[in-house]
Amino acid sequence: MSTFFDHEAFRSEPEATALVSRIHELLREKLKGEPVSLMEVCGTHTVAISRAGIRSLMPGGLKLLSGPGCPVCVTPLAEIDRAIAASRLQGVILTTFGDMMRVPGSESTLEREKAEGADVRILYGPLQAIEIAEENPESQVVFVGVGFETTSPTIAATVVEAARRGVTNLSVFPFFKTVPRALDMLARVPGRPLDGYICPGHVSAIIGSGAYEPTATEHNIPCVVTGFEPLDILAGIVMLLEQVAIVRAGGRAKVETQYSRAVTREGNPAALAIIADVFEECDAEWREIGVIPMSGHEFSERYRSFDARDRIDVEVPKSAGPSGCICGEIMLGQKTPTDCPLFAGRCTPREAVGPCMVSTEGACAAFYKYDRQTTEAP
Ligand code: SF4
Repeated sequence: MSTFFDHEAFRSEPEATALVSRIHELLREKLKGEPVSLMEVCGTHTVAISRAGIRSLMPGGLKLLSGPGCPVCVTPLAEIDRAIAASRLQGVILTTFGDMMRVPGSESTLEREKAEGADVRILYGPLQAIEIAEENPESQVVFVGVGFETTSPTIAATVVEAARRGVTNLSVFPFFKTVPRALDMLARVPGRPLDGYICPGHVSAIIGSGAYEPTATEHNIPCVVTGFEPLDILAGIVMLLEQVAIVRAGGRAKVETQYSRAVTREGNPAALAIIADVFEECDAEWREIGVIPMSGHEFSERYRSFDARDRIDVEVPKSAGPSGCICGEIMLGQKTPTDCPLFAGRCTPREAVGPCMVSTEGACAAFYKYDRQTTEAP
């Protein structure tokens, strides 16, 4: 039986062995054993690297860091609190993807609110929110919009469809983030070296690899858009190390695409068009990181009536994150999960303290599940 995508072709042991040998050779010979730090900024990469045990195969001088690639992890506490507060209002049906349910706000979670009687519904696709709104015309249906450029087009399509159908009791919390400007900010973080980006495959399929060219040029930092299979990731690391050697010899960094079976330089024109119609770029706050200019999406003038922040009036007190949690430093590449004193003790996937352990795509959850046995704290 033929399959759409042959995963086994990307898990060949001889090819993996050859790529791992090449990585060791590049670090030893071209880079003279000098340390190299590479960062991925995609939750799917975070999990794929850990699941395949790739860290344990790397030479001692090569560090693989997990940046802020998990959308749930970068959603500020105040935004989670706002969604929780909205769910408590009479006449509100709060809809969300499942990964937001257990994320702790300052006092509660959406899961707890649902158990206590709030009407919180998990969606498998945002278009379901339209059906719920049409079935419940007396209620305000609110969707918690969390995600990167991979999520924004489907939410945009939902809003366009709702407008077309004349649905007026549906709105969205626009908590969206965008990747390229975050890479600029991360390149400027003082106190930790960063030699290259493993750029996200899914996001790049939407925005195109060209979106990283300003970052590569301005910071002279190599960027390689990489797929998610073990061989993709190993091949992406080889491409990055080749570039790091060029940069350290005085050359210039560029954007390359290892994941060319899914990503073009220009991206997906239909998805980009609907994003441009429904949203406009705005400054956005990233949890534990702060405000990154032009790194978010809010509604354009034409669709501003769908902004739940204007319809749902809730007070959200300012509160600090969980004490002792170092998710922010982990996402900035300054620390790793095993540096956190709460890791695998007070904080586990069952009893998570911070967002990086709650989300399956968080660095702490991936480390807890896959890396604990195979790596030492770097
Ligand atoms: S182990 Fe838990 S408390 Fe520590 S940084 Fe990760 S999520 Fe935060």
